[in-house]
Amino acid sequence: MSAPDLKSAACGSSPAAPLRERGQHEVFCGLTSIIWLHRKMQDAFFLIVGSRTCAHLMQSAAGVMIFAEPRFGTAIIEERDLAGMADMNDELDSVVDRLLARRPDIKMLVLVGSCPSEVIKLDLDRAAQRLNKVHAPDRRVLSYSGSGIETTFTQGEDNFLTALVRDMPVKSETAPASLLVVGAMADVVEDQFERIFRSLGIENVAFLPARRSTELASIGPDTRYILAQPYLGTTVTELERRGAQRIEAPMPLGEEGTTLWLRAVADTFGVPAEKFDAITGPGRERARKALTHYREHLEGRRIFLFPDSQLEPAIARFLHRETGAEIVEVGTPFLHRRITQPEFDLLPDSVGVSEGQDVDKQIERCRAANPDLIVCGMGLGNPFEAEGRATKWSIELVFSPIHGYEQAGDLAELFARPLSRRAVLEVAV
Ligand code: SF4
Repeated sequence: MSAPDLKSAACGSSPAAPLRERGQHEVFCGLTSIIWLHRKMQDAFFLIVGSRTCAHLMQSAAGVMIFAEPRFGTAIIEERDLAGMADMNDELDSVVDRLLARRPDIKMLVLVGSCPSEVIKLDLDRAAQRLNKVHAPDRRVLSYSGSGIETTFTQGEDNFLTALVRDMPVKSETAPASLLVVGAMADVVEDQFERIFRSLGIENVAFLPARRSTELASIGPDTRYILAQPYLGTTVTELERRGAQRIEAPMPLGEEGTTLWLRAVADTFGVPAEKFDAITGPGRERARKALTHYREHLEGRRIFLFPDSQLEPAIARFLHRETGAEIVEVGTPFLHRRITQPEFDLLPDSVGVSEGQDVDKQIERCRAANPDLIVCGMGLGNPFEAEGRATKWSIELVFSPIHGYEQAGDLAELFARPLSRRAVLEVAV
């Protein structure tokens, strides 16, 4: 069977009139993204400039590393800093000097802004420029905001990648066309995609973020980029300001999503259809087989997705198309139409779409719909479980390898497991 293209797969739906809500919302802040970013970029150190609250959030969310030197930390803003009695810039410079003197392994220092640093209007962009004058070229210093003021936790990565794109060297005019895959994925998934691209004959492939800060790709008009994560609206704007051209596709989740994503790249680079089918065929077959097992648990089950990670439209498409689940409502913190349209093109019109949140109203809608499974943030998960409802924490989706053919079954399992667990509990009761 040959691979579907986006047009023939589409149902033609569109979130023409999503429900827009602007009320109280329940999300983690952008600092949370450091948990996966510091593992991804192995020579970077993330220095949060924040309060004890920020430090506690990071320590409890990421765990304290006892045996390894940590690659994130917090420069605590004390009360005398908040009161303007000390010069925060001097204190920051001395913290950075001490840190870099003690840690020669750090090649990129990332200053991460927080609510407190934004409230006292500490200009971390300027601090990074000042520190760069001292520490470059051996070490680079960047900054971005991870503050919880009006953000969702995945915006931390968006802001970090935007800062990296600003720092990418200019590609020479004589350099051949290249592909940039944008969005943090597990290393094992990157390796799988790299092997597929190589087999398709696509050379000059780079990933953003790279595993080492010294491997940052160059960028120019001959750079074609494709998103591997949907929450990168600001990064998209910056990539296009630097001249890169986007390849549009759904996210590479599930067999169909991965095939459409790879096909969009293959078409851009002129790979013949027969070659594409021959290279991707075995992976597609393995993914389909893996999904068959979970389809019996998920088919016809009604799923409600609260806005949290911005992965929701892609997950809804995967669950509906590849496991037969019924999507009651798909909520997303922001509806980046250019990014999410390929997902909505594959969903039926009957799917309710909401943007933003008024959490109490959404909880009431969810209770009234009485779905089989609720995908939501951790803050809502436990209360819903206490009501006897099955939930899945959406933050797990950014910590687990879920992209590509080999992970399609694991992705379905993330949603099938809470349903099986709830069924066992009901039998036991
Ligand atoms: S950045 Fe803001 S929301 Fe996040 S832990 Fe610090 S104070 Fe809390």
